[in-house]
Amino acid sequence: MEYLKEVRETVAAIVPREAEVTSVDLEGPEIAVYTKNPRAFHDNEDYVKSIAHQLKKKVNIRSDKSLLIEEKDAREKIMQIVPPEAKIADIQFMEPFSEVVIEALKPGLVIGKSGLTSKEIILQTGWTPRILRSPTAPSEMLKGIRHHLVKYSSERKKILQETAKKIYSEKPSPSWVRLTPLGGFRQVGRSCMLVETRRTKVLIDCGINVSNSDPDEAYPYLDAIRFPISELDAIILSHAHMDHCGFIPYLFKAGYRGPVYCTEPTRDLAALLLFDYIDVMAKENKEAAFSERDVKEMLKYCITRDYREVTDIAPDMRLTFHNAAHVLGSASVHLHIGEGAHNLVYSADIKYGFTRLFNNVDINYPRLETLIVESTYGGKDDIQTAREETEAQFLRIIQETTNQGGCVLIPVFAVGRAQEIQLVIENYYRKGLIDPDVKVYVDGMTRESSAIHTAYPEYLRNAVQKRVLQNDSPFTSSIFQVAKPEDRDAIVQNGKAIILASSGMLTGGPSVQYFYKLAENPINTLTFVGYQGEGSLGRKILGGIKSLPLTENDGRTRKINVNLRIEKFDGFSGHSDRPQLSAYVRNLKPKPKRILTDHGEATKCVELAKYFSAKFAITSQALRNLDSVRLK
Ligand SMILES: [Zn+2]
Ligand SMILES: [Zn+2]
Repeated sequence: MEYLKEVRETVAAIVPREAEVTSVDLEGPEIAVYTKNPRAFHDNEDYVKSIAHQLKKKVNIRSDKSLLIEEKDAREKIMQIVPPEAKIADIQFMEPFSEVVIEALKPGLVIGKSGLTSKEIILQTGWTPRILRSPTAPSEMLKGIRHHLVKYSSERKKILQETAKKIYSEKPSPSWVRLTPLGGFRQVGRSCMLVETRRTKVLIDCGINVSNSDPDEAYPYLDAIRFPISELDAIILSHAHMDHCGFIPYLFKAGYRGPVYCTEPTRDLAALLLFDYIDVMAKENKEAAFSERDVKEMLKYCITRDYREVTDIAPDMRLTFHNAAHVLGSASVHLHIGEGAHNLVYSADIKYGFTRLFNNVDINYPRLETLIVESTYGGKDDIQTAREETEAQFLRIIQETTNQGGCVLIPVFAVGRAQEIQLVIENYYRKGLIDPDVKVYVDGMTRESSAIHTAYPEYLRNAVQKRVLQNDSPFTSSIFQVAKPEDRDAIVQNGKAIILASSGMLTGGPSVQYFYKLAENPINTLTFVGYQGEGSLGRKILGGIKSLPLTENDGRTRKINVNLRIEKFDGFSGHSDRPQLSAYVRNLKPKPKRILTDHGEATKCVELAKYFSAKFAITSQALRNLDSVRLK
């Protein structure tokens, strides 16, 4: 490979012979330098800086295999070097990368002042630490994923090397760029689009429509792709919601074996949702389009990137993620195509407004020609209630319901709304606004999802981040009790409770179970805090449905009357409303030359595009699925 030769020459020119470099490798978009003399690199930090600067890549210095001491001895040494306050939870070795994975509650103490502790570990053991943060509450899922990645590290190394070969092959300048919407245009659900140049084919998101069980409507139009799935160069995932990640494992089932770019929390939360989806389908005797094996395969191919980390993903494409403030790790996607030929920003789901969970949305891009922006609440009447007012009303409903002994059921998306609502409720309790006798139950995957949030505090709003770092995580506060399936009847019978349960649109899972148990008693309240998709049970209830058939375990069907109080809040939304979308486009820098609307019901996508055209004099269009457009 021509480029690898260039990389090796660059390293050789910068690093003197005494540093004893034994090999230089490309691992995906990063460079790995193996050395018999790691001390030389520590004594002269300019080596790494110069290589990184010249090649514009992240550089990892690792020990030559001959320096790695026995794992058992290394483990002992690490425990001696790292202060016990770091609370090391796990130590595992990835020989192919000469790395030791150290999971600790206080990763800063494993790194040490100016990285001294880490350096000591390398010098004494040969192993380079890869330091991960433990969640403040145990998460089986996170543990499973992290172990999986260690277990398959030699396969992962090969995957990264193969990926690098493709990224750094020849460098033609693209004469054209084409975008093909494959799902999620003029609709919510199954978001998916194909970006092509003469050289490269990339898929952005590949989701499913969970509120539609018709296979023609549930999955993206992959059959419209006129080449084998295995020829895709990369998949880019914006965030961990099923309408964006839900169909990626199917691509692996269909033979795709290439990188999936996403942030680290997106990888873990997506795995959680996908495993749960398979589980829920199995419990309902339905067959999922893919299996756990496909999800595990997908995990091996995930290449995680932080916000604002510029990454080559093909000879003619560079990817950068930007904070989208929608869910943990959620990103807007910036694609730089060709040498300045075209710049595309896919906002994905964004919240351009206050949330308790996240810092503000990124609105500055180096260059921008085409913007794809969501329209979930893009209609002209979509104006969400102000946050303060929403929180006050929400509190009143909780008080009214629990004062009369009822339960408040809050169906939540386990990733995103659940944690936002947890923060709101925890805040009420801290201020003494809710009777301490009122219990709060968290059911389903929300507990796992919240635990994963505590492993990535750097993705949270500063105030929340600080609490997680001080081991006072609001998500794992003692006011939240974990409910198991066998507890549900008692919880409903005892009343005076707030229940947070997934799924968020009552399309399956524990929220539906609770709903049936609570529906007939008017002292209870059902509270919607998120988007209810067309066709979902949530949407039907909001539409005023008065009775529903329920099939019991014995196979008999009986009628359930919907007597409980129903409330809906739009002010907690993780999506921007019309004024926020408008402000987002107004404040974006630079101004896009073209706007495409997606991720909204047809009328909203069309209305929003018309509005942008009129308001900002920017050509705007509501493409339909399969309407290919030439961007360049
Ligand atoms: Zn989303
Ligand atoms: Zn979405």
